[in-house]
Amino acid sequence: MFALCVLDKRILTYILMKTRNAASKTHNWTGIMAKVIFLHKGRERSLLRGHPWILSGAVADVQGVPEPGATVEVFSSDGQWLARAAYSPASQLRARVWTRDREERIDQDFFNRRIQNAVAYREKLGIPEHSNAWRIIHGEADGIPGCVIDRYGDFCVCQFLCAGIELNRDKIIKAIALIPGIKGIYERSDTDARARDALEPRCGIVDGDNPPELFEIKENGISYLADIRNGHKTGFYLDQRDNRAAMPFAKDAKDMLNCFCYTGGFGIRAAFESNAHVTQVDLSESALGLAKKNAVINNIPADRFSFIRADVFTQLRKFRDMGLSFDVVVLDPPKFADNPKQLEKAARGYKDINLLAAKLTRPGGTLLTLSCSGAMAPELFQKIVGDAVRDAGRDAIAVKILTQAPDHPISLNFPEGRYLTGLQVCLP
Ligand code: SAH
Repeated sequence: MFALCVLDKRILTYILMKTRNAASKTHNWTGIMAKVIFLHKGRERSLLRGHPWILSGAVADVQGVPEPGATVEVFSSDGQWLARAAYSPASQLRARVWTRDREERIDQDFFNRRIQNAVAYREKLGIPEHSNAWRIIHGEADGIPGCVIDRYGDFCVCQFLCAGIELNRDKIIKAIALIPGIKGIYERSDTDARARDALEPRCGIVDGDNPPELFEIKENGISYLADIRNGHKTGFYLDQRDNRAAMPFAKDAKDMLNCFCYTGGFGIRAAFESNAHVTQVDLSESALGLAKKNAVINNIPADRFSFIRADVFTQLRKFRDMGLSFDVVVLDPPKFADNPKQLEKAARGYKDINLLAAKLTRPGGTLLTLSCSGAMAPELFQKIVGDAVRDAGRDAIAVKILTQAPDHPISLNFPEGRYLTGLQVCLP
């Protein structure tokens, strides 16, 4: 019976494909036919190159009234089967590819397999040897578009960001529960991304035990408290792990200015490894509160830090006017550009803070400068920082190119996934 159903759908799809231009849209095929989308001629190219997104403008025709998140069969204009994808009727990003293997069904095994593969590869990367918190699923790159799963010790914290994930939520939760050692699953689906798919925010415990109020991350010998329920992302910037770890240049520093410090990440690391005085600057009271606690739990004396609640753009000018300088300056701002349209404004913001930071960096010092705007290509960022440093009247050489930690992998055919870019700049 089941085999027959599958066959029926395929035959129907085939017939539809052949006759779709002639077929009257008033026919009520709902319920008996496969959900199918046809692309405009030429719009299959990026899909064939391996890109996982189908934009609304690429879709020529939709058959079978797929509901939000439904799995659809994707065909080119000349009837070639291309992929199986999750349909997002409310979004410009109309469908996201699950698989390019026609035999692969989007069932419980599919999610089990993808999650188990991702877990196994993180082990190979050796990440669990350096930290008890890391990303297990990084959306598109791990073959589950729109899904983020971070591990904090015995807990998983997930973000379900599109209709396809929402519809398959139960399967994903079941698959997470199979990961050895997981005692609780917490949902943090409260990002703006869900609005694109007309999904309401949702947060709370999903399965098993409740995570602690503050989870203690142990990363390369340092403890950081993460607020899973209210913190940014799923509580911590796990993507900066390797950049935090690679700060030997801070060893002999007398002082460090950590701008957009959040819960102190870079500053705590530098203070741990040196005798430097660290100035932590952020707008958020609660983030600074945790940054203070993070100093305490690492037994770093309070007088090693200054905490300033301020707008970085203003504070950098104040420091400049006071004639201050620092051996190390870190700039890790929030995303300035959500999309390419906002790039110009973002570029002005990056240039402004980098110019000021370059002025505040002592000769021989280091500027660690980052952008987490996915739309900002590394080459463009380098150019902006280069211009800023030159306008500050300084020379600079990049001694290291920075990016996201490897538990946030980058699918080679999905450049948007390379969102974190940065430079370690030496200013002679
Ligand atoms: N560097 C941090 C992550 C930074 S996230 C880490 O490694 O953990 C960006 C931070 O910038 C947030 O904490 C946010 O509160 C802060 N922020 C955003 N706009 C700001 C502004 N104009 N001035 C100061 N802080 C700002």
